[in-house]
Amino acid sequence: MIIDGKKVAFSLLEEIKEKIDKLNKKPGLAVILANDDASSKVYVASKEKHSIALGLKSSVYRFDKSITQGKLISLIHELNENPDINGILVQLPLFEHLDEREILEIINPKKDVDGFHPVNIGRLYSGLKPYAVCCTPKGIIKLLKAYNIEIEGKNALVIGRSNIVGKPVASLLTNENATVTLAHSKTKKLKDYTKKADIIVSATGHPKLITADMVKKGAVVIDVGITRQFDGRLIGDVDFEKVKDVASYITPVPGGVGPMTIACLMENTYELYMLQNKRQN
Ligand code: NAD
Repeated sequence: MIIDGKKVAFSLLEEIKEKIDKLNKKPGLAVILANDDASSKVYVASKEKHSIALGLKSSVYRFDKSITQGKLISLIHELNENPDINGILVQLPLFEHLDEREILEIINPKKDVDGFHPVNIGRLYSGLKPYAVCCTPKGIIKLLKAYNIEIEGKNALVIGRSNIVGKPVASLLTNENATVTLAHSKTKKLKDYTKKADIIVSATGHPKLITADMVKKGAVVIDVGITRQFDGRLIGDVDFEKVKDVASYITPVPGGVGPMTIACLMENTYELYMLQNKRQN
């Protein structure tokens, strides 16, 4: 069965819109774009479009290469103090001369809508509730649950160990009581691991890394990878056409995990607003 991320994301967005419509003030999301990357510009435009459609107050700060670390730090301090801004998102990567780690760490953890701040990562790993859970990993768990896919007791293999997808999704799956293996570019004999997995989450950006012979019959395959081909089409890490005949459930690219990421970003903005305005609502 093909997992329809667009459909699940659409109903989540509808739910969030209903909740936002009931508020007397609009939750505010600030997005900072400080790089020249074409994909990042598309992602930021999409975040802006969704925010407006949902009735959020969207503020996008676009910078060219002349932006300094100091100016960016001052902006984040201002946003941290601004009561109209509930979520702050720094689109990664940043221009090379900027220090990404330092920038992410000065965001108020209660406004860290991407869930990348060490406080939120630490809360996730220690089993405490983070103020916000990283959007793509959160979206993956929501997709599995939307299709009533059992996680508890399953062998889950996560391929890719980035801070934004691989590690947090491995942690969320562990919290859901899966037995999790985390593979990466130095893993030897990847097929030995994929063959044993009930759930495979691939987040590498390596097209056709996962072929049909690597997948156990009936496994669930979640493809996070996005690679833009020379003709402009987007493809994932999984050889979708062949793997779909072996898997019980599979996400397509596009239309699988991607729409959930943006829906979870909107949900995180709403949830942070509620956290910051506990008494007023
Ligand atoms: P990254 O480059 O930070 O990390 C890639 C990871 O894949 C690394 O840990 C690396 O060790 C591993 N890897 C690379 N080649 C491998 C191989 N041959 N075998 C095993 N492991 C290998 O990337 P990221 O930021 O985590 O993103 C991963 C992919 O997911 C990218 O294609 C990105 O565009 C996509 N992505 C999609 C969404 C979405 O919403 N759908 C969100 C974030 C990232």
